[in-house]
Amino acid sequence: MKKSSIITLEQAKKLAEYSSPFYVYDEEAIIKNAKQVFDAFSWNKGFREYFAVKANPIPDIVKVLVDLGCGCDCSSDTELTIASCLDAPIMFSSNVTPAHEYVHAKKLGAIINLDDISHISFLKDCAGIPETICCRYNSGGNFEVGPNCMGTPGEAKYGMTREQIFKAFRILKAEGVKNFGLHAFLASNTLTNDYYPKLAKELFTLAVELKEQLDVNIAFVNLSGGIGVPYLPDEEPNDIYVISQGVREQYESILTPAGMEPAIYTELGRYMLAPYGQLVTKVLHLKHIYRDYVGCDACAANLMRPAMYGAYHHIIVLGKENIEPNHIYDVTGSLCENNDKFAINRHLPEIEIGDFLVICDAGAHGSSMGYHYNGKLHCAEYLKCADGTFRLIKRPEIPADYFSTFRINPETGEEYNW
Ligand SMILES: *Cc1c(COP(=O)(O)O)cnc(C)c1O
Repeated sequence: MKKSSIITLEQAKKLAEYSSPFYVYDEEAIIKNAKQVFDAFSWNKGFREYFAVKANPIPDIVKVLVDLGCGCDCSSDTELTIASCLDAPIMFSSNVTPAHEYVHAKKLGAIINLDDISHISFLKDCAGIPETICCRYNSGGNFEVGPNCMGTPGEAKYGMTREQIFKAFRILKAEGVKNFGLHAFLASNTLTNDYYPKLAKELFTLAVELKEQLDVNIAFVNLSGGIGVPYLPDEEPNDIYVISQGVREQYESILTPAGMEPAIYTELGRYMLAPYGQLVTKVLHLKHIYRDYVGCDACAANLMRPAMYGAYHHIIVLGKENIEPNHIYDVTGSLCENNDKFAINRHLPEIEIGDFLVICDAGAHGSSMGYHYNGKLHCAEYLKCADGTFRLIKRPEIPADYFSTFRINPETGEEYNW
């Protein structure tokens, strides 16, 4: 799929006068994509997408999705607070959960998704067992859907075994639970229309067994996240209508004959946002040693996926979109870590100091994975609104933000006494 920039060179220059690098998101494209997801799943009466807030927690971004009818999938106190300030329905899919977070989630009326059987008594002791609850399943072994970021379920820390799911439902029923949900997240960033249908088949079959053996009401099946996006320009995007149709076929062949009609929930993060956010960075230096390096003002602390997973992110040189990519560069940031490279041996047009690079598909798991190594500060973020204006939705951090939690404040010399 051909990649294009959300922003023009003139707009980038203007925004960079205030602060660079920066993120920019395309509101119109986010809305268009979300509406397609709802439309594709409209055959299911109770369908709801609980947007995975960890993919991008900026309230203005989450609000775009919540205003369209999304809920929020949260897994920490701060994510719960973000969802709660937007009055969003909440799914709390956490693991290794502290007691105070269960208390917070229960107080907000979130649907709690238990990652482990031992959390039943833990939750009972700290917050009480609610009437509606979800359990996370791990099928173990291998889940064959092609390359993805998660590895094999048998080696993943999440969820309960099959035996544990049956035991957990039995205990929870005895504790007064009226409505059950079943959840699994077995592969991430899948680029195949088969992942959800295959997962659905497994979860729907399990749901029927649970209902028939334990006489429980399965109110919803939560397919979680995992639908990927094409990071490479020659990859084919997933087709949400084909995916949804595949889920529907499983639904109608497994659940309908069993007299069941649970709602389908999703917790998509990447699919809702990744293509609609970009990191814009200015070229500061060019360096020619054994390779040719482009040094820019963004670094892995702004976008860590390339450094962490060797992930490909397409790069557009603003104003040079139609120039032959006949140069080969490593595109780097300034961290004192050699993995701080946005691209390795990348074909690009000839680059000059002052050029603006647009790093594509950074809308999800981009700035939210940012960190402060080398004292790097988080950058500005803008929403390109439907009317074409740019709204600053996150100001750039200033040194005072970074220094504020140290006992000795280096800017003022002040010593805090907590
Ligand atoms: C990360 C995560 C998601 C979102 O995953 P994507 O790959 O971004 O769709 C959904 N649910 C849970 C529990 C997660 O941890």
